Amino acid sequence: RSGIYRRCRSCATITAMNTPKATSMEQLISLCKRRGFIYQGSEIYGGLAGTWDYGPLGVALKRNIQNAWWKMFVTSREDMYGVDAAIIMNPNVWKASGHVAGFSDPLVECTKCKRRFRADHLDNVTTCPECGGTLGESRQFNMMFKTSVGALETEDSTAYLRPETAQGMFVNFKNVVDSFYPDLPFGLAQQGKAFRNEISPRDFVFRSREFEQMEIEYFVDPRDEELVGKVFDELFDEQMKFLSTLGISKDNIHKIEVPESDRAHYSKRSIDTEYDFPFGQKELLGLAYRTDYDLNAHIKGSGEDLSYFDEEKKERFVPHCIEPTFGIDRLILAVLSESYKVEGEGDEARVFLAFPPALAPVKVCVSPLLKNKIELVEKAQGLFSSLKKRFGAVAWDDNGNVGKRYRRQDEIGTPFCVVVDFDTLGEPSAQAGNPELLDTVTVRHRDTGEQERVAIGDLEKYIEERIK
Ligand code: ATP
Repeated sequence: RSGIYRRCRSCATITAMNTPKATSMEQLISLCKRRGFIYQGSEIYGGLAGTWDYGPLGVALKRNIQNAWWKMFVTSREDMYGVDAAIIMNPNVWKASGHVAGFSDPLVECTKCKRRFRADHLDNVTTCPECGGTLGESRQFNMMFKTSVGALETEDSTAYLRPETAQGMFVNFKNVVDSFYPDLPFGLAQQGKAFRNEISPRDFVFRSREFEQMEIEYFVDPRDEELVGKVFDELFDEQMKFLSTLGISKDNIHKIEVPESDRAHYSKRSIDTEYDFPFGQKELLGLAYRTDYDLNAHIKGSGEDLSYFDEEKKERFVPHCIEPTFGIDRLILAVLSESYKVEGEGDEARVFLAFPPALAPVKVCVSPLLKNKIELVEKAQGLFSSLKKRFGAVAWDDNGNVGKRYRRQDEIGTPFCVVVDFDTLGEPSAQAGNPELLDTVTVRHRDTGEQERVAIGDLEKYIEERIK
């Protein structure tokens, strides 16, 4: 069967999904490696399945997304508290949360080639999709990575790398309440690494074994059901708003109201947001009404009182929790796939990444028209230094001709290229001589290829206004 299909985990119904977009994963992966966004993890040793390393431009893009998220969900709000909990937690956290017993995926192994697959990702659970051999019985495989804490490796020293950041917030609920006395509703927010021993990591950074999440645990008073519903809807709207700030088009986003049979056991309502990745429509982020499941689990597991005291009504209760969750790596993949544009065909084709300027790893590239004309180079270097001081993410390029430099910057998504030429110096060139252009530069725009003349004195303000 050609096309992309989705198999429901519980009823096994197979539904056709949107066809993949023109951008192929090969194009994206190759650009990411060539231009220093994302490399295979431990590449010189042949790699390690399910791990990826972010290069200089990838880490810049990632930070820009993380910072935009932190600003929107934490610093610009009055009801959010940031935390950064340890990755390795007391193993009892994972016993209480249910992960030790139940954080597993169904695994099947081929009796012939011994390859392993996630049973719920297969259309046919009896035949190996690789060699046609017979698949064995499905069994549950726990995805938590184990490690050992301390000098002696014993049963008691077993600990886990966190498979989600969420629990770091539940275990700090009481700490934050005791330090800040927040009124409900309020949320805890965290960004950080999560680790899952995925049965079959695939699709570039979409499904890896080490990845990053940005999560919010938003606590509400369960006695006001209407408010709970309103908060749930508002958080969904905020998720959509965030995607739009990343330049992700509504047309490529799908809201999936997860049916009860498909929801995690702790969730009373879940919305998965799926995106049309080049390999098909898949989960990008989620929103779950986790009720009081986690706080109650930790009350039971730790013996601590994690209830909340309502001063006004003089009542004590366990708050409910709504969780918006974002996978950073999947967002990066969506942003890359959304931004990847090709204009023209064959050797003439122009590839550019149309990032929203605020996300672009490099905001401006400065260059002298000619590399061997000292006056041009000195003037351009002065401009480069002052822009670098102001914006940080500024590049210098004096290699090859201007056209080639534009192509290179297009490929990494630099929104503006600034060129210092003879007019800048007040020395009219043969082609275009206009003394009125003294101390102006050419600003070339990535998406349209258009060029305009901007006075050096206005340049910082000009850029500032366009990269917000
Ligand atoms: P899936 O069904 O695709 O395995 P999930 O439902 O298990 O995902 P959650 O447990 O809801 O995922 O995790 C929250 C978010 O973390 C996901 O929406 C996704 O963005 C991200 N995420 C989960 N697993 C991975 C992974 N293996 N690699 C990269 N990101 C991941």
